[in-house]
Amino acid sequence: MKKVLTIAGSDSCGGAGIQADLKTFSAHGVYGMSVITAVTAQNTQGVFGVQDISEEIIMNQIEVIFDDIEVDAVKIGMVSKTETIKVIHDTLRKYPYKNLVVDPVMVSKSGYHLLQPDAKKALIHYLIPMATLVTPNILEAEVITGKRITGYKDMEKAAVEIHQMGAQYALIKGGHLEGDAMDILFDGKNVTSFNSPRISTENTHGTGCTLSSAIASNLAKGHSIKEAIELAKNYITMAIEHSFSIGKGVGPTHHFY
Ligand code: PLP
Repeated sequence: MKKVLTIAGSDSCGGAGIQADLKTFSAHGVYGMSVITAVTAQNTQGVFGVQDISEEIIMNQIEVIFDDIEVDAVKIGMVSKTETIKVIHDTLRKYPYKNLVVDPVMVSKSGYHLLQPDAKKALIHYLIPMATLVTPNILEAEVITGKRITGYKDMEKAAVEIHQMGAQYALIKGGHLEGDAMDILFDGKNVTSFNSPRISTENTHGTGCTLSSAIASNLAKGHSIKEAIELAKNYITMAIEHSFSIGKGVGPTHHFY
């Protein structure tokens, strides 16, 4: 069985973060493992508290997994602060990690800063150059490149720029723009676009986490980058179509088995 590791934050209400990642791994028939970087107190209405995990324990978690288990893909999600980013970088570099998907999580849909604003530089400096694929949404791509994105051409430019920062592939997710959910991939030579219909629902908590974990699962299973993204887009579209309400706020997507 393929083994996939998520390095990310815990979401107590189970819709995003580590919990979404592990559900996505199971739904893809891969074995999921987790290195927790932070614990959030969260429900469908927002994030109410965060406790960062110490650098020592983050390092420890990564080391004991890689010392023992062959990891087929890694996904990085919420990384909180500069010190967290540095320790993940320094520790992972000691191992032959592969298929590294970096989801540059910054602000939750409810408006909470999951990445401290001053850690942006560290994310660009340490994590983007290690990545097989980086998966920013429009707002994250704007923060990373420092440029406004208002349409397809800007998305293309951002993908090229993030590739130039050292990522092998950059996928800019267009879900925050009007119309269909169009994502743009740059592979160093060509641009490919991936389209899926916009689904009208309030319940989209954890969609970014789910997409990046689905891509990591598909890469672990040996799919090419384009196949991995195409399959993950189909998966997240179906998961959003069947999303549901569990509380007073934004509900989760549905992870099919
Ligand atoms: N909580 C954690 C731990 C996350 O990693 C993320 C996103 O990556 C979120 C919350 C935000 O989820 P959303 O913006 O989909 O509500």
